[in-house]
Amino acid sequence: MQRIPLIDYVGRPLLACVFVALLWLQWRFPLRRQHFSALHRLVRNFVLSIPGFAIVRLAMLPIPFAVAMWAQNRHIGLLNWVALPGWAACIATFLLMDYAYWWWHWANHMVPLFWRFHNVHHTDLDLDVSTAARFHFGEMVFSVGFLSVAVMIFGIGPMMLLVFFITFEAATLFHHSNWRLPIKLERILNLIVVTPRMHGIHHSIVQRETNSNWGTIFCWWDKLHHTLRRDVPQDAVTIGVAPYREEHELTLGKLFALPFREQMLMFASPCRAAEQRRESEQKRQDDQYST
Ligand SMILES: [Zn+2]
Repeated sequence: MQRIPLIDYVGRPLLACVFVALLWLQWRFPLRRQHFSALHRLVRNFVLSIPGFAIVRLAMLPIPFAVAMWAQNRHIGLLNWVALPGWAACIATFLLMDYAYWWWHWANHMVPLFWRFHNVHHTDLDLDVSTAARFHFGEMVFSVGFLSVAVMIFGIGPMMLLVFFITFEAATLFHHSNWRLPIKLERILNLIVVTPRMHGIHHSIVQRETNSNWGTIFCWWDKLHHTLRRDVPQDAVTIGVAPYREEHELTLGKLFALPFREQMLMFASPCRAAEQRRESEQKRQDDQYST
């Protein structure tokens, strides 16, 4: 494996520190009530992510990086055609790539083949920083193609790509976390970036809530497309995918196999969601009494 110093010596340790910091912050200042064992989910999400991590390092980074070098040498792609100063190229990279990812996330929900894989991410029954690692390796394989095409069309510089990637991953960790930010700070951040409260709504079992807040770094794309939602209190959000709410159906083996099995109907109506919330609350209470 060829070394990519910016990723191997800077990005990875930095992201590991962000992960640990968010683990601590969400434990100290929790946003949503967690219904399942955090440790259990942490282990499951981590093991599930191992093949995905391997694909990221062996293909999802090196291939688009090679495409970026090739495009730069041959003057292919938008940013290679217009000679921008470094700072402007940096801003353009972040805006173009984050907007492209907004569409990619949208496609992961709307294209049935992609949803089969992205579904695995959404089946987490609680949402916290470990969910940020819970991606099926199949989704990563598709991402290699998406990222390579985006890099070529936009003419993203190789170093810019790596800087964007590290920021993108840090933003993913941040908005999946269960960290209760002071509401004033969250409102200020909400003017620019995707926050944990915003992304929590995207992980709801209710269709109109899931089909909102598709952004990763900036929240502007959801504003642009009128898909920004901040009007659902976190206590009213049931995390997960409606037909995949049984913990014993979400073991590691079943999660790896999930994209290749028949898919169940995706969404609950708001009434059904409320019903489901009551049912799981009841089940929890019954479990408590029976132990
Ligand atoms: Zn999603």
